[in-house]
Amino acid sequence: EDTVARIAAGEVVERPASAVKELTENSLDADASRIDVTVENGGTELVRVADDGHGMSEADLRAAVRQHTTSKIAGLEDLESGVATLGFRGEALHTIGSVSRMTIRSRPRDGDGAGTELVFEGGEMVSVEPVGCPGGTTVEVVDLFYNTPARRKFLKTTATEFAHVNRIVTRYALANPDVAVSLTHDDREVFATTGQGDLQAAVLAVYGREVASAMILVEVDGESLPPGPLESVSGLVSHPETNRSSSEYLATYVNGRAVTADAIREGIMGAYGTQLGGDRYPFVVCFHEVSGDAVDVNVHPRKREVRFDDDDAVRRQVDAAIESALLEHGL
Ligand code: ADP
Ligand code: MG
Repeated sequence: EDTVARIAAGEVVERPASAVKELTENSLDADASRIDVTVENGGTELVRVADDGHGMSEADLRAAVRQHTTSKIAGLEDLESGVATLGFRGEALHTIGSVSRMTIRSRPRDGDGAGTELVFEGGEMVSVEPVGCPGGTTVEVVDLFYNTPARRKFLKTTATEFAHVNRIVTRYALANPDVAVSLTHDDREVFATTGQGDLQAAVLAVYGREVASAMILVEVDGESLPPGPLESVSGLVSHPETNRSSSEYLATYVNGRAVTADAIREGIMGAYGTQLGGDRYPFVVCFHEVSGDAVDVNVHPRKREVRFDDDDAVRRQVDAAIESALLEHGL
């Protein structure tokens, strides 16, 4: 593929975590009940996402790596609502495969179709062969950016790249407690959810016992919320004494999608007030339901940052929801 296409791909797939995000989203879209994410050297050497989802036939697989192909119908509301839009529909596999050596093994979960292995290198299909494999799909991405040295140079240390990967997989694991999600880095299992529990169980698997036992239930909707675009706020927030010096443990979602929003973060911090020391942040896993047209898509789709038409109202709503949960616990 030509240089321009490769540079464009480098803009879209910024780092290993971007590949992890797209592949994990595909696995969820394929109705997987388990997703195993394995990375080596922060994902720069290897990203592997294995699922037990509906899988692909040979023809599906050939189509999947073509540019601009998607089997998913993008409805008008999908295109209009930034929360629902994936950054680049029908492009992820092709794009990732144009800046790496990518191998996909897949077999349709239902029916007796055979498995297929497709190898793709730097945007070229190298081989397509039958292979024995379980139902579902495994995508392996090796040597990301091997053909875009400029992009490769921008990668940070293994620790930093892994932190980005961890953050992404954590967000999906917490939002999908009914899917068994595991994350392994350099042969060490970082966490594994069971796929059989609720949000509390997922928090336990991801953050451990100390954090899980400090979580307080938030469940506020309808008339219990001050007026504003949010229809409900629900999830878990930590006792103020269980906090960290980084805001990365604020996992917030709007209509099921992992996003960040200044109004939500400010509402959370407002509810805790002075109970947290300076520059300390609680653990939060909170889901916000909003009617589609109240969200502004105008912020970078890849960054997943959203703004609301009425940020002030959202801030008040989140503040009130979390404050009432803390109050119930005498906080
Ligand atoms: P999109 O997800 O926007 O459709 P992608 O490039 O990510 O675009 O994927 C292209 C197509 O490949 C998908 O529409 C889907 O049909 C198929 N596909 C990708 N990953 C998987 C998977 N893990 N399981 C089953 N099908 C998949
Ligand atoms: Mg996709």
